[in-house]
Amino acid sequence: MSHRVGIGYDVHPFAEGRKLFLGGVEFVYEKGLQGHSDADVLIHAIADAVLGAIGESDIGHHFPNTDERWRGVSSLVFLKEIRRMLDQRGAVLENIDASLISEEPKIGPRLAEMKAKVGEALGLTPQRVGIKATTNEKLGFLGRKEGIAAMAVASVTVKD
Ligand code: MG
Repeated sequence: MSHRVGIGYDVHPFAEGRKLFLGGVEFVYEKGLQGHSDADVLIHAIADAVLGAIGESDIGHHFPNTDERWRGVSSLVFLKEIRRMLDQRGAVLENIDASLISEEPKIGPRLAEMKAKVGEALGLTPQRVGIKATTNEKLGFLGRKEGIAAMAVASVTVKD
């Protein structure tokens, strides 16, 4: 057995007339995020971290925005697909940890729901799902509330 880690990063701009999904949870907010799927930036970062940990190409390769199958789809679907890829390789996801970087909306009250949704999709107990949020101290495009960024790491055990 050997131990692997992966890293993921994503950013999406805000857009009018879109629903806002973060960690598989819909937020009541004035704008949503632009993207082909539901643009769940947190899940996209987590997906890339897990894919990276098993040496796979990124989320854009596996779920391209040119594929109508993924238009408007919940990004939780991507995590479920990735979980299947892990199973096929005999890889066991140990934990993920992620940070959202955003001035708004308030994430704290919804954290438990987000952990439950992400954990369910990946087959992890909520204790193995880290989700934190920080602001960008009003600096740069994140500070101007032009979008939301997320970063994540994943830890996987694989049979060698
Ligand atoms: Mg993305």
